[in-house]
Amino acid sequence: MSGAQPRTAVIIGAGLAGCLMACYLARAGWRIAVFERRPDPRAKGYVGGRSINLALSVRGIAGLAGAELADLVVQREAIPMRGRMIHPATTGPLVFQPYSANPTDAINSVSRAGLNLTLLHAAAELPGVSFHFDHPCHDVDLEAPAAIMTDPSGAIVRAQADLILGCDGAFSPVRLRLQKTDRFDYSQSYLRHGYKELHIPPAPGGGFVMEPNALHIWPRGGAMMIALPNRDASFTCTLFWPFEGEHAFAALADRAAVEAFFRAHYADAVPLMPALTEDFARNPTSSLVTVRCAPWTHGGSVAVLGDAAHAIVPFYGQGMNCAFEDCRELAACLAHAPRDQAGALAEFERRRKPNADAIADMALENFIEMRDLAGRPDFQYRKKIEQALHKHHGDRLTPQYNLVSFSTVPYAVAQRRGREMDALLRAVAQRVPPPVSFDQAWHAAIVAAAEPLLGSITPIEPAGAVSVRP
Ligand SMILES: Cc1cc2nc3c(=O)[nH]c(=O)nc-3n(C[C@H](O)[C@H](O)[C@H](O)COP(=O)(O)OP(=O)(O)OC[C@H]3O[C@@H](n4cnc5c(N)ncnc54)[C@H](O)[C@@H]3O)c2cc1C
Repeated sequence: MSGAQPRTAVIIGAGLAGCLMACYLARAGWRIAVFERRPDPRAKGYVGGRSINLALSVRGIAGLAGAELADLVVQREAIPMRGRMIHPATTGPLVFQPYSANPTDAINSVSRAGLNLTLLHAAAELPGVSFHFDHPCHDVDLEAPAAIMTDPSGAIVRAQADLILGCDGAFSPVRLRLQKTDRFDYSQSYLRHGYKELHIPPAPGGGFVMEPNALHIWPRGGAMMIALPNRDASFTCTLFWPFEGEHAFAALADRAAVEAFFRAHYADAVPLMPALTEDFARNPTSSLVTVRCAPWTHGGSVAVLGDAAHAIVPFYGQGMNCAFEDCRELAACLAHAPRDQAGALAEFERRRKPNADAIADMALENFIEMRDLAGRPDFQYRKKIEQALHKHHGDRLTPQYNLVSFSTVPYAVAQRRGREMDALLRAVAQRVPPPVSFDQAWHAAIVAAAEPLLGSITPIEPAGAVSVRP
């Protein structure tokens, strides 16, 4: 690497991580070529039609902020969601569960296509970045290193660079090449649940038909539906159901069965979904996979990040957030060791791998919380205690959800806190049963019950957040 020549990178995948990583590297003076198998969305739009949204939280915002894109995305694209709105199975009032004792804490609903386009435009405007759409990558020469693509005419394109980055998603061809190397660990596991998207349009005269500043959940034991708001006042709903069995996709053979099933289990949503049966028949049912692998890097010149390194299930709303945190960390490691790329990649993996494993576990656990526990009174009571204790003790008792969604404390630290808090909350709930009213006396009782247990909570060093600083 000569000091005068800019360093060069090939990025495979112009998705969320690929575009953000291109922004980071271009701003640091690299020359970057991004290869994407799909057509250019600037010309043709994203395939898929209706709005599909994602929850963007503090880690993702920090990742965007490192490339000076946070304000643009949050102000232009985001709808804050301050808690879960639980839709009960039987008729009864909706229950709002705030995400935090701090009313300004919120996760943000953003359009996946809109965000990807914003990042693509931002990267394309930077000097030294070129995009090559309709160029699927099918192999990597790990020694050169070079990525190997086909262009739209079918000709082979070989792109060599100082650094090859696989930002190519859960079924990454770059990772597939690494899988063929000696002692590469790899596992993938599918949930027995899949997902299908449905749609709630705006009210006839415009406006939202449900509370817009909430993530709506219909918890139904082993299955659930969620809905996130869009900027056009519609909602994107997602069913997370088993493929087979009861309350399952395979159980509904025709439109009449779909209609009857929704009337029985999601009654309040049916009048809001005029195209329910058409959407159900037309929209695909997709699978949910967790991918773990190691090492993420090879030879000091090839690395995977984002879903390519750690695809996780979406129940903590963290896959993209984690991918953006990867981008920020990788850029920081490369900037910190400009003459030691191999050392920088090793440091990136050392920092990120335990945290990616932790969020993969927490995402699986949160599925149980959302589909099952969130609707149960004992769980709702523990959440109430958790928030009251958080308010009382402040940072000393920040809950796992807050650490994951509203802080940049490493995921592994948040996971440990979650386990400790869970034990404490169960003990407090046992000692102080649910009251008739949540008054001062109740508050004093839970604070007193928690007092002798505080020693079981490991303090979180403020330095916990340091790892994402550039
Ligand atoms: C139903 C669902 C809901 C989700 N909700 C959330 C949420 O609320 N919050 C959140 O943070 N995360 C969420 N996620 C996770 C999030 O979508 C992913 O973590 C995120 O998209 C990862 O970004 P990425 O860039 O690593 O991969 P991707 O977004 O998958 O991008 C990979 C890119 O690589 C391209 N590519 C693939 N193969 C090739 C090839 N051979 N050659 C060239 N290019 C290639 C693809 O076309 C794509 O453009 C959700 C996921 C699902 C499935």
